[in-house]
Amino acid sequence: MKRLPPHKVLWITYALFAAQIILLLIARLLTSVTAALAVIPLAVIMLVFHFLFYRCPHCGAYLGRNLPDGFCPRCGKKLGDSR
Ligand SMILES: [Zn+2]
Repeated sequence: MKRLPPHKVLWITYALFAAQIILLLIARLLTSVTAALAVIPLAVIMLVFHFLFYRCPHCGAYLGRNLPDGFCPRCGKKLGDSR
């Protein structure tokens, strides 16, 4: 299976985070505890997705919490180039 490029993984992670913020705002507007609790599984999915897929397409190293500068900190290969 082809790995997702790290920048796409980051965008999906950001989208999941934005969905949590929106859900929390909706929960606040509706004063709904159920909607607020729905954020928890979304947060778990986001974290698992991030840790599973935010990896170097060459060596599979986790890219860490910092934004990569375009190169893998372990193997040194360019992250945007999956060849
Ligand atoms: Zn690497």
